[in-house]
Amino acid sequence: MDIKKIVAQLVEKYDTSDPFKLADLLGIVVVFEPLGSIYGYYSRSHRTKVIHINENLPLEKQLLTGAHELGHAVQHPEANTAFLKKNTLFSTDKIEIEANTFAVELLLPDELFKDQCYSGFTIYDAIEEKGVPIELLSLKSIDGKKILP
Ligand SMILES: [Zn+2]
Repeated sequence: MDIKKIVAQLVEKYDTSDPFKLADLLGIVVVFEPLGSIYGYYSRSHRTKVIHINENLPLEKQLLTGAHELGHAVQHPEANTAFLKKNTLFSTDKIEIEANTFAVELLLPDELFKDQCYSGFTIYDAIEEKGVPIELLSLKSIDGKKILP
């Protein structure tokens, strides 16, 4: 299934786009711990899915990391995924791109790009507030079209 559809169904079913609330509702354990230079990672032990988040990150980076790792938990539950770090955020691995696409669709809903109320408040401000690096904007699509050429 299309990643955008997966996200839309989750948001509709659980009535939230908060990655930590969604994780909780999906029975995924979220652990906040000191992880040094690592943003976070996803692991599975026995039947328990666990999202690890670096507790020392600013809130918006925790949200981005949570959304990315939730993408793994939903799309790649069995996979051993790489540690998410600043530089691996731009990994070209298929599953990393899928996790990033999930995160972008979850954190940057279509309305954000259509809403005319953002006068004086640019899309870039909005993206910054959500912790999404500008480089990941290329993964966002609306009505089947990428928003960036
Ligand atoms: Zn990842």
